[in-house]
Amino acid sequence: MTGRIVVAGASMAGLRAAEQLRAAGWSGAITLIGDEPHMPYNRPPLSKEVLAGKAPFESLAFRPRASVADAEWRLGTKVVASRLAERIVELDDGEALSYDGLVVATGMRPRRLRCPGPLAGRHTVRTLADAQGLRDELTRPGVRVVVVGAGFIGCEVAATAVGLGVREVTVVDPLPLPMVGPLGELLGRTLLERHEQRGVRFALGTGVAGFEGEDRVTGVVLDDGSVLPADVVVESVGSLANTEWLDGNGLDLSDGVLTDQQLRVGGRPDVVAVGDVARFPNARYDGVPRRVEHWCIPTDTAKHAAKVLVAHLTGAEAEPAPFAPLPAFWSDQHDFRLQSFGAPLLGLGDVRVLDGHPEGDVLVGYHAGGRLVGVVALGGPAAVSGAARHRAELLKQPALTA
Ligand SMILES: Cc1cc2nc3c(=O)[nH]c(=O)nc-3n(C[C@H](O)[C@H](O)[C@H](O)COP(=O)(O)OP(=O)(O)OC[C@H]3O[C@@H](n4cnc5c(N)ncnc54)[C@H](O)[C@@H]3O)c2cc1C
Repeated sequence: MTGRIVVAGASMAGLRAAEQLRAAGWSGAITLIGDEPHMPYNRPPLSKEVLAGKAPFESLAFRPRASVADAEWRLGTKVVASRLAERIVELDDGEALSYDGLVVATGMRPRRLRCPGPLAGRHTVRTLADAQGLRDELTRPGVRVVVVGAGFIGCEVAATAVGLGVREVTVVDPLPLPMVGPLGELLGRTLLERHEQRGVRFALGTGVAGFEGEDRVTGVVLDDGSVLPADVVVESVGSLANTEWLDGNGLDLSDGVLTDQQLRVGGRPDVVAVGDVARFPNARYDGVPRRVEHWCIPTDTAKHAAKVLVAHLTGAEAEPAPFAPLPAFWSDQHDFRLQSFGAPLLGLGDVRVLDGHPEGDVLVGYHAGGRLVGVVALGGPAAVSGAARHRAELLKQPALTA
């Protein structure tokens, strides 16, 4: 087989795409281009075990399957532009690389706060270098930490910092409860209590107006002008898609790269998107395109997109059924785990305790039109296996639009 598939972005989704291209029968060249210097590694431990000093880098690296042993890895190289009509991507070393098929796998980067004040002492957590830099600061004696953003990563970092023995850890968020956006009030309230019981402080219902300090941050100024003293600030206020290199091709890049229900980009059969950067309609739900930043999505999207792309490049006629993954995520904080299956976000208007109690292990169901669309367990291993038991039921549900 001749021809080349270029995979832009050499992290989890890029690696899984390369492996799935081989599994789908592609025996031509595969070139992966990644701007980080590392082979693909696992990100979830960055805010947990790596920050806690319990996981060395070697334990994070994925082991690529033998099927991609002949793939070409261009690491430390950035894709800076693309001409999809000509099937060319441009690299930061000046090369214009032509392709027969293109996989978009460039993921996300942290959103930064655009407030006045010094930058030194302010951190984000997305890469290994980020996690290592933050760990160095958290292990300084007597350090005071302010985490801005009470979402998944903010809550995980706060929990890890407390576990490291950090003296003061305060989480700031304009919303009234942690993780209330994706999980709703019931779990938001119990999360607040659990974090507070374990030593995390909260400043909720307020934004950040700026940062104090000359050369590096010494405090976080809240909306009402009050100041939280801080030696270290962690900004966990969401993420932005790495799609600038696709500008100028007439694509919808308003939030990641929009795909059709087969993960194809811009109506082009030779371009697919995978992982965090893909905004896809999920045929299982309401068909509204959304990005999903969960660890399962790189693999799920790679399996589907690779089949679609290889079928096009090899001239196969058959079109698979529309992409319809069952999302799942976990989050480890302190001594408890959150485990989710399905789409809680679509059932926030009808949240019911299915098992247990919010003060202990609890299993919560999210419903739309009276139908279960998602479950989230909070607690220990028993709660987590309770959520897993509902997976089959969620998979059997007819599409939400039906
Ligand atoms: C700190 C942290 C903790 C997490 N914890 C959990 C968890 O507990 N549970 C869970 O379900 N999920 C978790 N996730 C989410 C999960 O890790 C992501 O969904 C997954 O890593 C996405 O992989 P990806 O390959 O799509 O994107 P990324 O991992 O962002 O990879 C994209 C790659 O492309 C590179 N790139 C970007 N632009 C270019 C360019 N122009 N040219 C070349 N290369 C480029 C990037 O540098 C990066 O290496 C966590 C994520 C983070 C950051």
